[in-house]
Amino acid sequence: MDGLLVETHALRRDFGTNRAVDALDLHVARGEVVGLLGHNGAGKTTTVRLLAGVLAPTAGTARVFGFDPTVDGVEVRRRVGVSTETPAVDDRLTGRQGLRAFADLYGVAPSLVDGRVADLLASFDLSEAADRRVGTYSKGMRQRLALARALLHDPALLFLDEPTAGLDPVAARAVADRVRALRAEGRGIVLCTHDLNQAQALCDRVVVLEHGAVVAEGAPSELAAGLGAGTRVRVVARPPVDGGGLVASLAATLATVDGWGDVDDDAPPEHAGVVVVHAVVRDADAIADGVAALVGLGARIHAVEREVPSLEDVYFALHRVGRGAVAVPAAGGVPA
Ligand code: ATP
Repeated sequence: MDGLLVETHALRRDFGTNRAVDALDLHVARGEVVGLLGHNGAGKTTTVRLLAGVLAPTAGTARVFGFDPTVDGVEVRRRVGVSTETPAVDDRLTGRQGLRAFADLYGVAPSLVDGRVADLLASFDLSEAADRRVGTYSKGMRQRLALARALLHDPALLFLDEPTAGLDPVAARAVADRVRALRAEGRGIVLCTHDLNQAQALCDRVVVLEHGAVVAEGAPSELAAGLGAGTRVRVVARPPVDGGGLVASLAATLATVDGWGDVDDDAPPEHAGVVVVHAVVRDADAIADGVAALVGLGARIHAVEREVPSLEDVYFALHRVGRGAVAVPAAGGVPA
């Protein structure tokens, strides 16, 4: 358990015939942000509920701070903060009253409660609204209140389910900064999110689930680096217009060149007449052949740029694997 806050082995949870979590080996260390990604219904929330001791596993083991959550749920919940999309606090209470009630429930020493509640309200920009009923809060305010609630008992491990859903960009960035600060303090964080840019920016490691099973795992950059052989490029060019006034398709031409694959194009509205082609090319020779083909066609090439793949590219490639088209290699622990 050296530094490990969460450790599961072959964790499984069935709901009737539906396998929500399947053979999950998950570990989370101190000072690590681990993202749980996957489509709706992939098993992220069920995993968190298993780790929080809210649900019992069908098979396998989970240890959180060395405790079995189903046996020692109280010990686990004393050390874990959970923020979900469900209402954080009773709508009829004020934000301050709600947090005080939870502080009591979490066993925060009475002499510390008022100060801690006030600090958290201030740090989540809720001081002004502190004495208003939560029923009058906006979605973003409720989201911030949920995070404040999760931190009341100073937990060393946090489960954050979509912590920035519904937040405006400024508030979302503030939450992301807060997550980084919590990690810097040595806390472990499990982040369930559909926001792939956020996952790429925040997570040390992501675990992608599909039908409850891990389909990829690794640092976002490792996964992106392992995305297929070849280089992703972006070609910006103005196509030639033939005698009949038809614009020749640059993408169709490039798709016929040896070493060019996954060719796709779009026409940015701000650049009339210019086409942007995205593709994966095998090597430098293939790039030269593609450029020659476009020049031969009479196109004017404005740019050929290397595209750095993102976690979003990984995610979509993985789901094309599901449909039997593209293979994502085993970078950073992607299962073979
Ligand atoms: P989302 O992104 O929509 O929040 P998720 O990845 O969190 O999805 P889960 O909520 O863990 O997915 O659901 C995984 C599967 O388990 C789904 O098929 C869901 O219908 C099922 N499931 C979850 N909770 C229950 C339950 N209490 N009873 C029956 N089935 C459930």
